[in-house]
Amino acid sequence: MAITEKSIKVLWGLSGGRCAICRTPLVLPGEVPADDHAVVGDMAHIVAHSVGGPRGGVPFAGDRDHHSNLLLLCRVHHKVVDDHVNGWTVDRLHQQKAAHEAWVAETLEFEAVRVRPDPESPDPSETKFFMIGSDQELWDLVCAAWSHRFEYSERDRTDEQMDQLMGLLDELADWMDIAESVDTMRGQRDARKRMEMILTESADLGFILYSRRIRMLMTGGRGLPSKHWHVEIRAVRCEDFAKIVMEHMTQSDPAG
Ligand SMILES: [Zn+2]
Repeated sequence: MAITEKSIKVLWGLSGGRCAICRTPLVLPGEVPADDHAVVGDMAHIVAHSVGGPRGGVPFAGDRDHHSNLLLLCRVHHKVVDDHVNGWTVDRLHQQKAAHEAWVAETLEFEAVRVRPDPESPDPSETKFFMIGSDQELWDLVCAAWSHRFEYSERDRTDEQMDQLMGLLDELADWMDIAESVDTMRGQRDARKRMEMILTESADLGFILYSRRIRMLMTGGRGLPSKHWHVEIRAVRCEDFAKIVMEHMTQSDPAG
């Protein structure tokens, strides 16, 4: 009985087209377009096809050509395991096969990238907004932001005022993109000056900037899980400021 087409596909698929011992690729493309791929791998029997072959005397029931009794190897390692039958026992070859196929599966596994609030950090619904009190605070937020969201109210504001506010928030988003590359003292100082201008101009438009940070957990992809800050900035109308202060006081008062 020969090796079936199915067993060939299963073995090559599970082995990732690589030698189960040295992991060398077993399908090599030609160096010029006229040369087709060269297949340099062998499907080696763990227990030989015939009783007189390598490890062939080991008691075996079933189909010796089944993929479970085959190991994908380069030509060199095929010769080695068949010449060194005392070192490369049936058990050792089975272990080698299992370890290699597990490595292929693990290496190719590509979990979808997922970003969500970090379950080990405080619940976002319980994370309060705080007033951004200084240019340094705003710059620290900009530097920390891996992702962001802006909120604002348009009530009682003209289109022109809203345009100006949008301009300031757009500028903040731009700073978030480049903050990492601002690495000189002078660059940092210039950036903080802009932060001060943004706070002042927002106030001139009747807005106070509040913010909060939410810890996000990113999983999947090729990298290890990583944590990042999601920064939310809320432009609060000065008219609403008193109301917010009252809310804060009520919330912080255990009797209230
Ligand atoms: Zn090899």
